[in-house]
Amino acid sequence: MIRPAGFRGAFFGDTSDGNGRDDPVARRSISEALGISADWAFTEQIHGGTVVLVDEPGLAGRSDCLITEQPDLPMTIATADCLPIIVEGDRSVAILHAGWRSIAAGIIDAGLSAMDALGDTPRRAAIGPSIGPCCYEVGDEVRAAVGGYGATTTAGGKSVDLWSAAADLLEGVDVWRSDLCTYTDTAYWSYRRDGTKRRQVAVAWVPGN
Ligand SMILES: [Zn+2]
Repeated sequence: MIRPAGFRGAFFGDTSDGNGRDDPVARRSISEALGISADWAFTEQIHGGTVVLVDEPGLAGRSDCLITEQPDLPMTIATADCLPIIVEGDRSVAILHAGWRSIAAGIIDAGLSAMDALGDTPRRAAIGPSIGPCCYEVGDEVRAAVGGYGATTTAGGKSVDLWSAAADLLEGVDVWRSDLCTYTDTAYWSYRRDGTKRRQVAVAWVPGN
């Protein structure tokens, strides 16, 4: 597990932590380790650009960004190459499932705007383990959809650097990046590497008293 320094309530799991979104046993064990409620909010992830405001645990609809100002209400997303992003404000927190389609659909701006709409200010963001420019071979249409960010894989192919694309979209916010590639690092599930249905989870929460 990764707990980025300086964040109130941000967790990025790996394969050893289990899929706490779908597996209650893993959810309990992650919650215990983090000292948070085991009743999490989650979403049906659709690779889009919409945000849902959450105030209770359970399924929060179809969305790729959840936001809450409710203390001790953990929110989760599950990934295997897409970028898990956690944005903390002074009182609220947002968690994003940001693959290239969601980034192209404006999920990052939508998440920051949702925080503004709550009267809060996005202060810091963490970009967790996800497929890196070292491995994410894509066509020109993907680069065009996210505004460029062309890179080269270690094998010499055309890739895209979504870490930098996301960091730039998080303008005015302090950005922490894990720079860990799920395709390279076998501590993480990678859909691109294995075609797997398995996922690691990220969890974000506003601590209770
Ligand atoms: Zn890589």
